Amino acid sequence: MVKKVLKFGGTSVGTTERIQHVAKIIEKEQSLGNKIIAVVSAMAGKTNDLVKLSKEISEEFNKRELDVLLSSGEQVTCGLLSGALIKLNVQAKSWLNWQIPILTDGEHTNARILNIHIEKINKYLDHGGVAIIPGFQGISKFGDITTIGRGGSDATAVAIAKIFNASTCEIYTDVDGVYSTDPNKIPVAKKIDKISYDEMLELSSLGAKVMQSSAVQTAMMYDIPLEVRSTFTDRKGTKIFSQENIDYTKSVTGVAYSKDDAKITLIGVEDKPGVAANIFEPLSKAQINVDMVIQNISSDQKTTDITFTVKRGDVSKTKQILKKNSNINYKKIIENDKVAKVSIVGAGMVSTPGVTYRMFRALSDEGINILAISTSEIKLSVIIEEDNTLKAIKKLHTIFDLD
Ligand code: ADP
Ligand code: ASP
Ligand code: MG
Repeated sequence: MVKKVLKFGGTSVGTTERIQHVAKIIEKEQSLGNKIIAVVSAMAGKTNDLVKLSKEISEEFNKRELDVLLSSGEQVTCGLLSGALIKLNVQAKSWLNWQIPILTDGEHTNARILNIHIEKINKYLDHGGVAIIPGFQGISKFGDITTIGRGGSDATAVAIAKIFNASTCEIYTDVDGVYSTDPNKIPVAKKIDKISYDEMLELSSLGAKVMQSSAVQTAMMYDIPLEVRSTFTDRKGTKIFSQENIDYTKSVTGVAYSKDDAKITLIGVEDKPGVAANIFEPLSKAQINVDMVIQNISSDQKTTDITFTVKRGDVSKTKQILKKNSNINYKKIIENDKVAKVSIVGAGMVSTPGVTYRMFRALSDEGINILAISTSEIKLSVIIEEDNTLKAIKKLHTIFDLD
């Protein structure tokens, strides 16, 4: 008997018809002799609607109460899916985060799963039941409801697979696997049969929301193989596992993009030791994540310009902190929040010379200006004007033979 974790995303449980379809998938898996734990998201769009409601009350809605509100979407789908299974005469039961409990650590809206109590649920599985668990949430040591970051049901599924020692963790979604880029934006995108944790982690962190990045990180850390597959077709999905199992024929595996970046430039900053630390220390204390940093060479040895990128939502807070910072001198701040980050990712890049130059040439052929660059062993990211995003993705997809 094999224990399986099956995670169903928002579109997969977006209507009662779809929930009944998901119940049939579970019924079939169970009839094959498997023990099933299903993790569900809220219905597609529900969590966004709840965020909107909170904003109608306050832009600075209390975070503890925001978690109480946001976690409710998954309660609805848990109840509906259990009910749909029971209607099919499958023994099923839902557990809410506090009933299990799923223990978390860290701040509200961005908590982290620490542990999950397994005895009750294991006993239920042993007696032939299907356990339905809400994704995206837990309970803190103070007994407060927490959520673990948007897209967090993936992370719940991986944590459950680890703590319950499941044999597989299958991520059911609205596409039939991980593609070379978002298939809903670039129709010629190709499905990837297997991909390493490292590459998937880069793709997710750089904007491919098909898997949440912290879920991939946990899977990589504990070597939990994942499979991304479709709720709506029987086609084989994408396997995500450790690198040794993968044969690289291509230098670039995928192209990712994110549109929630912004670029800030400090003009005329003093060019002396300690200045960069003085700029970035207060930002880091305020939990602002600085992504790329570029410092220009100073022509007069006295002043220089420093450019960096942050998430768009952090721009006004960043500017406030810079303006209040008495440890730095500069002439002015320029911002551009209409930028996007486009990245190529591939474990094969390490062994292929010329990838960097080919990317830059391709973008210049399209008349696209590069505003900032950052690299690692397996990824190359550039910041460009947001309007050029689609053109850049298409071009890179083509020149790296991904169409
Ligand atoms: P779920 O609600 O099932 O968690 P998500 O909306 O979070 O689903 O993720 C699936 C979506 O991810 C797809 O509909 C697709 O538009 C998007 N996506 C972005 N990049 C990729 C990629 N490289 N491969 C597949 N899907 C991608
Ligand atoms: N419902 C949550 C969200 O929309 C979690 C998830 O779907 O993974 O972010
Ligand atoms: Mg998702």
